[in-house]
Amino acid sequence: MQELSIRSERFTDSVIRRMTRICDEYGAINLSQGFPDDAPPVELTNRLAEVAADGPHQYAVTWGAENFRNALAKKFKNFSGITIDPQSEVLVTCGSTEAMIAAVMTVCNPGDRVAVFSPFYENYGADAILCGAEAIYVPMRPPSFDFDADALEKAFASGAKALILCNPSNPSGKVFSLAELETIARLAEKYDAFVITDEVYEHIVFEPYQHIYFASLPGMFERTIMCGSLSKTYHITGWRLGYIIAPTSVVERAKKVHDFLTVGAASPLQEAATIGLEFADSYYTDLRTHYTEKRDFFLSGLDKLGIKHTNPQGAYYVLVDISEFGYESDMDFCIDLAQKVGVGAVPGSAFFNEEENRYIRLHFAKSEKMLSKALQRLASLPERLGQRNPS
Ligand code: GLN
Repeated sequence: MQELSIRSERFTDSVIRRMTRICDEYGAINLSQGFPDDAPPVELTNRLAEVAADGPHQYAVTWGAENFRNALAKKFKNFSGITIDPQSEVLVTCGSTEAMIAAVMTVCNPGDRVAVFSPFYENYGADAILCGAEAIYVPMRPPSFDFDADALEKAFASGAKALILCNPSNPSGKVFSLAELETIARLAEKYDAFVITDEVYEHIVFEPYQHIYFASLPGMFERTIMCGSLSKTYHITGWRLGYIIAPTSVVERAKKVHDFLTVGAASPLQEAATIGLEFADSYYTDLRTHYTEKRDFFLSGLDKLGIKHTNPQGAYYVLVDISEFGYESDMDFCIDLAQKVGVGAVPGSAFFNEEENRYIRLHFAKSEKMLSKALQRLASLPERLGQRNPS
């Protein structure tokens, strides 16, 4: 038999989605794969019912339905202050997952380098490999997740053609400050690099932190390829609606990549989701409050149990420190956690390029009832998994 491709050999399946399967196997509460248990806004589901009857059911324009792009451009202007041309500077994709790989494919030749902050969302590593590019990792040190500007500069100096910037960041919950973004902008300019942003958590940011769109920094629109999504903002992760916003020259190329990767995102879902893009500002304020309450509830529950954790500034993940349990493998810890405690988590090592075995990632995009139940189960942690604890 012929060998299969080296590219498909060089990365593992998604650990996040593997943990969902493990949760299902053991009936654990799934705090691993980050998706909400909130229903989508009723306006979207009502509109979807209408669309089921009236269409569209055939392909939309390959780079996205016109009304969807128009609504997206208006919403983006409202939040970022940037005016974009919905015809030439927007590409609608099948989730931000497609947006990211299309972006990397649009920028990188085989052998090119791409800088990635670590910890990182696992797709970026696989995207680089699938594009034949090499990821150069720049550590963000826990618990503050600050980065060293010299280390970033070194990555650019070694030839990185682009940086992947996840802000607000999964899994760390870091929201990059203006000063940090300015440092990145200065280096991107100096080394003439692209910045591919993943901003899917743009509306899940906790006071006093604020989301700043990297493209809104002076001179940065021209070198930013923003990847976004409707998944987290409207609780529709299964609809697979994402997008790229970038200058025309980049979008023109990305459109070709997208056309042959997927042809297009589902047209009925684009039509039904357009109404969400047109929501008033209060929707986003309420979303922020909603997630702030969940974060506060879950973190105070962890505090009461004496479980050590990071303090997310945005997104809906928390990293819990498991070092006291003495496990050699955080994957083994997560399997035991699902099986013996009944809570699903993602091993932190799935996100770090560095040797890191201290963390597991939990998400709190669940109802208070489910979070309470998870906390009750976590109360039995020391008793059920503490046997390896030497103290
Ligand atoms: N972004 C979510 C996470 O980090 C879900 C990922 C996915 O499965 N597409 O868990």
